[in-house]
Amino acid sequence: MSEYQMIINGEKVSADEHFPVLNPATETVIAQCPQATSGHLDAAVDAARQAFPAWRDMSDSARAERVHAIGAALASHADELAQLLVQEQGKPMGGFAGLGAQFEMGGTVAWCHATADLTLPVDIIQDNDEARIEVHRKPLGVVASITPWNYPLLIAIWHTMPALRSGNTVVIKPSEFTPLTTLRAAEIINELLPPGVFNIVTGDGSLGAAMTSHPGIDKIVFTGSTPTGKKIMQGASGNLKRLTLELGGNDAAIVLPDVDVAAVAPKIFATALINNGQTCAALKRLYVHEAVYDELCQALAGIAASVKTGPGDGEVDFGPVQNKPQFDKVCAIAADAKASGARILTGGEPLPGPGYFFPVTIVADIDEGTRLVREEPFGPILPVLKFSDVEDALRRANDSTNGLGGSVWSSDIEAATRLASRLECGTAWVNNHAMIQPDAPFGGVKESGFGVEFGRYGLEEYTSIQTLQVSKV
Ligand code: NDP
Repeated sequence: MSEYQMIINGEKVSADEHFPVLNPATETVIAQCPQATSGHLDAAVDAARQAFPAWRDMSDSARAERVHAIGAALASHADELAQLLVQEQGKPMGGFAGLGAQFEMGGTVAWCHATADLTLPVDIIQDNDEARIEVHRKPLGVVASITPWNYPLLIAIWHTMPALRSGNTVVIKPSEFTPLTTLRAAEIINELLPPGVFNIVTGDGSLGAAMTSHPGIDKIVFTGSTPTGKKIMQGASGNLKRLTLELGGNDAAIVLPDVDVAAVAPKIFATALINNGQTCAALKRLYVHEAVYDELCQALAGIAASVKTGPGDGEVDFGPVQNKPQFDKVCAIAADAKASGARILTGGEPLPGPGYFFPVTIVADIDEGTRLVREEPFGPILPVLKFSDVEDALRRANDSTNGLGGSVWSSDIEAATRLASRLECGTAWVNNHAMIQPDAPFGGVKESGFGVEFGRYGLEEYTSIQTLQVSKV
């Protein structure tokens, strides 16, 4: 069994204590990971602080080159990293609509290169006989990244490449459920950077909490649940850390009566079930006009009945739910839906045998007050709700403490766009959902968090503004 090591100040570091990492398809231990102590965290933060001035002062083009080199190096290890993702995360290599481990690797490499190509040019506010006023973007210092278990490597790259690109140094903590791919990627990344620029420590949520309140850290970028995001915000107040919080979503989609059901059903299915539903911006509440409700329910149930759930190393569409607490949550939410009298069109019960397998479950005629509608299930289960009045559908869609994404589906693009712009969320899609790309900002409103990732707007979050005013009189 492999034993993994952390990386602190360019060196591989072990620990006295270890924790096991499981394959969620078999529930067997596949590796042991070091449990970082507070001493390891201090050492990682110190190393990042020491490395910061030289990294900050390196030329912009040299930093861009390093981030491109990281993209190329990860690409050359894509097969190995994708295999690790299958083992620890559970997702299939290819998977439904090609959205499995290879997709995550493709995104990882693409985001490295796109981030390397971003720039933060100086903004000239005034340049006349009186004064020249320039706005500069300065790196913050040490950025800590705390990542979840749904896209372990892709989210690590989303957090850390803009941090490096803009001149910050990094300490990353992956989820205790999925640390392996990030540890291996960190080894590859570390070979391309000066010691201390990229550090990785592993442990459980208490290590994340210690990072949150660590005085040597200047910013936390976090993706995960809203309750943990709130704790991070409290912990970060000690030294006024900057925060980017990308928290849970409970995205609504509104399907208008003029859709071509046969055309939209596969797309709706794919964007709801992406990564087995374990995606922050997956479509999670489907509001369908009564004129097409039965037809769309039938179409979705037909697709669900045709897909295969099983171990990710086989020819399957979907793998297991990633971990036991999440699996228990999905089972409880499904049982609650059933007990409420909702119509279970497919699935509904966990699959037998070892592994956290839950089949794709489509639920119709469900009450708005059930857990499945009110909470983010973060698993392969989709509620389909009926409406007759569009304004009522919009009200119900917006009646959520979350506000990550939302969508409208219709043949009338103008009407759909008008309606989509009234959704209370950070990204609104028309005839699509959960589509992200490295040059368009992505982030939540309400309790889905604040700050954005990606593109110039995302890069700016890793900097502070310095206004430079040169008097000419
Ligand atoms: P968490 O938010 O608890 O975990 C995300 C990351 O935060 C992990 O690295 C975790 O460490 C770390 N962490 C845990 N506690 C703290 C803390 N007090 N301070 C700092 N960091 C901490 O998510 P869960 O794994 O518990 O999942 C619960 C729910 O969160 C899911 O059901 C889903 O609804 C939502 N979720 C949303 C995600 C998204 O993409 N927005 C991703 C994952 C989950 P460790 O894992 O080592 O405990």
